Amino acid sequence: MTKFFTHSHKSFLLVGLLIFLLDILFVAINYRSAQQVLYAGITSHALDHEKQFGFALEMAYTNLGQLSLLISRNDELNQLFLAGKKAVEAEGGGAGGPQAERFRQALLARVKGGWDEMAKAFGVRQLHYHLGPGSLSFLRVHRPEKYGDRMDDLRHTIVDTHEEKTGRYGFETGRIYSGLRSVVPIWTHDPESGERTYVGALEVGTSFDQLLSSFADSYSVHAAVLLTKDHVESKMFPEFVRKFFADNPAFNFYLEAASSPPDEEAVAMILPKIDLAADFATPQAQLIRVSGKFLSAYFFPLYDYQADRQGSLSPSGFVLFWDDVSELVAEFRRSVWINILFAVSGFIVIEAILLAVFRRELRLEILKKQAMTDGLTGFFNRHYFDKTLERDLNLARRAGKELSLIVCDVDSFKKFNDRYGHQAGDRCLVEVAGAIGKALRRESDWAVRFGGEEFVVVLPGTDLAGARLMAERLLEAVRRLRIAHEASEVSPFVTLSAGIATSREADDPAELFNAADRHLYQAKEQGRDRWHGALE
Ligand code: GH3
Ligand code: MG
Ligand code: MG
Repeated sequence: MTKFFTHSHKSFLLVGLLIFLLDILFVAINYRSAQQVLYAGITSHALDHEKQFGFALEMAYTNLGQLSLLISRNDELNQLFLAGKKAVEAEGGGAGGPQAERFRQALLARVKGGWDEMAKAFGVRQLHYHLGPGSLSFLRVHRPEKYGDRMDDLRHTIVDTHEEKTGRYGFETGRIYSGLRSVVPIWTHDPESGERTYVGALEVGTSFDQLLSSFADSYSVHAAVLLTKDHVESKMFPEFVRKFFADNPAFNFYLEAASSPPDEEAVAMILPKIDLAADFATPQAQLIRVSGKFLSAYFFPLYDYQADRQGSLSPSGFVLFWDDVSELVAEFRRSVWINILFAVSGFIVIEAILLAVFRRELRLEILKKQAMTDGLTGFFNRHYFDKTLERDLNLARRAGKELSLIVCDVDSFKKFNDRYGHQAGDRCLVEVAGAIGKALRRESDWAVRFGGEEFVVVLPGTDLAGARLMAERLLEAVRRLRIAHEASEVSPFVTLSAGIATSREADDPAELFNAADRHLYQAKEQGRDRWHGALE
């Protein structure tokens, strides 16, 4: 009984553990897939922003290109530019002299009115006439007091336009600020030679600030352009770079532009939290936590005109986007908690059902066992005997072996009860049963309390000779208990009588028992405290 109980408990615990592990697996898989959905969502948003940004950038270059092309076709302006160029050459190059200044002022007077309106309305920032080769400033319409300086190693768009006489566009970092630029060649008719001649280059530029703020407004996303230290150190005035990094100790990149002034502060908090690859390329948006909010951050590399043209240079910096995704993360967390709740309640329900089933099984098993055993002695009972004898007989027959049966009966037990009382009788039966149980030798031997003071011992694989020895042993075991029985006519102590039958005599369970019972009757007849069996 104990054995079954433990076994049942073990299986219950094992099944419970299995379900628990499956539950954990379920939660883990759900968590993982919800997380993937979250990342896929924010990454797809980020990729959309990257595309939109690319388009906005193209549009900005298109606008600058249209503007520069239109101005470059105004021959009145071009004639003044040509006269200015000739004056600079005649007056020793560089800033030139008074003649050059006269033409510069005339050109400025013609173009300034329209330019100022344009700058105000459309956010263009630079209109710049350059002389080649290299890059010599002739007139900055946006800043007319500064001219005559060379930018040969900075303005590659200009240098290349002079060299190849074709238009250029791209992003370039200057001494103080960077710009998105469109540069076109200027040709005009030379009145002196009568030929079409190349004059110089016209640059129209705007800044990332302009682009980012309108971009952020349109797509409700925050954005910033950051340039590497290496890049700005190679382009800008060194004291300017030093000042920026001294003023902004939180930055290890130069903040070229942000979509709004508050976003500049946000960048300082975001930068230390994102993993920036060396090439500023990332396959997916990063989820970071900044001042209690969840942000999705995404970046992609930015190449300046020179890097773009040479193809092999490292990025000049990167464009950073971020978005508040606290709502999405809260959604994700809710779904994870709901899953855990489901898993836990599912587990509890299944465990409860399992426990109920196991308990029922256990109870049934115990009842079955109880139905098979005798309450007083713990021996199997007659019910078990009827069920099992047939099975053992068949097994013995198939194995070609004999099975012996010994029916034992306590002698003059009625008198024992009368003399010592029913309770003493019960105790006596328990002791007799114990002696019989101990006398059994083989694993396959078994005994039942058949009823009253009668016990049956079954000896599979034992022949008549073996059964006789066993009967003698049983009788002797009871004699040795030395339970006083003053009312007995055969002995001062409790004794047994036994009848022996083997499957050779009777092959059928009932007949075998009857045969043994008949021999028991013989033993009683012959004076008790003895056994009787068939003769060899
Ligand atoms: P014999 O030597 O011929 O076997 O005589 P006997 O008195 O043992 O046989 P009988 O069958 O006449 O009486 C058996 C008695 O056993 C009758 C009954 O009171 C007693 N008995 C049967 N079951 C129990 C029991 O569980 N407890 C007790 N104390 N007595 C029992
Ligand atoms: Mg009897
Ligand atoms: Mg008896």
